[in-house]
Amino acid sequence: MSKKIIYIMGNSRSGSTFLDLLLGSHPDALSIGELFKLAKSGWQNNELCSCGSHLQQCSFWSTVSERWKELSGLDESQYMALKDQFYRSWYLLKPSEFSKKKDFQTFIKAKQSFYQAIFEISGKNIIVDSSKNPIDAYFATLVPDTEVTLLHLVRDSRGVVWSMSKSFEQNLKKGVQREIKATPVQQTIKSWLVSNLFCSYLGQAYPQSYIRVLYEDFMTNPEQTLNRLSKKTNIDFTTCLADLEQGIEPGQRHVLAGNRLRMDSKVSLSPDFAWKEGLAGQQKAVISLLTLPLLVHYGLLRREPRAKRQPVQKGKLNLPTFSTNRSLANHEGSVSVSHLEIAQNPIFEFQDAGSAQTRSQKTDESKLN
Ligand SMILES: [Zn+2]
Repeated sequence: MSKKIIYIMGNSRSGSTFLDLLLGSHPDALSIGELFKLAKSGWQNNELCSCGSHLQQCSFWSTVSERWKELSGLDESQYMALKDQFYRSWYLLKPSEFSKKKDFQTFIKAKQSFYQAIFEISGKNIIVDSSKNPIDAYFATLVPDTEVTLLHLVRDSRGVVWSMSKSFEQNLKKGVQREIKATPVQQTIKSWLVSNLFCSYLGQAYPQSYIRVLYEDFMTNPEQTLNRLSKKTNIDFTTCLADLEQGIEPGQRHVLAGNRLRMDSKVSLSPDFAWKEGLAGQQKAVISLLTLPLLVHYGLLRREPRAKRQPVQKGKLNLPTFSTNRSLANHEGSVSVSHLEIAQNPIFEFQDAGSAQTRSQKTDESKLN
């Protein structure tokens, strides 16, 4: 079987961690979380892996890092310099002009070495990388000898704004590495527009590799989403339906970054449409207006979540039915704690978490999901 990468890209708080864990429950797959953040979260900050160890002490990631050094011929500081060079300059260049830059091939070899080290050490043939960053996804497509699927995960802008307006207190054991302040609405909207536009651009540039998944579809009809993914990737992800029924077991998981779901002993589907009742009518109208072209393009304005999930086609699933009840506000299926790190990526420089809040949503760790 050829080596495959399922790269989940899109905006924060779109359900990427849950989708990553679900696809990673396939017997040939490995869920790794957000590889893009290994340098910062692991090498610099030594944050927690989902296994409970700090990343520099985690047996998996420390071995991956050592093997990566052998394969790439680089050390951490050299890679950090390359990362700064290529992730900070993307907006000045057309993608095709990257190859003209000095050291670009060295940088791509470094990326290839990460994936190669993970394939070798895990013994798996499929890596699920939920780094979300579209420019990083573009770089992944340039890794040779690997089949990359660009999975563009889109969540309704109003749901993302609602989620990003929450704040979280630090709780290391729960995977919240630091206090997360609410993000101002205008910053979330800019981030949503730019990240989704860039992902859609990649879809036009690489149509054979691209598949778009709507959070709303995934949460209300996961069987259909898994069937579409299976056809796109030639990997039978319908085997993961059993994990949806029973809850995803942690196994020997070493998930890097992402939300607190990765730290849970068992993960279940938790649809969150609380924004429908949580946002005021005027807020919904303004967000809809500002993001209207893409909401229409993605078919999100026409899409009203079903009262109940579609009948199960395979297996006997007993998943939550859809509800707009406020009780779902505490069952955020797509919370990511990553936006502070992303804020330091120039792509999302406007995403820097601020103190303004559209609503008071000071949330403790128990409400993170
Ligand atoms: Zn670990």
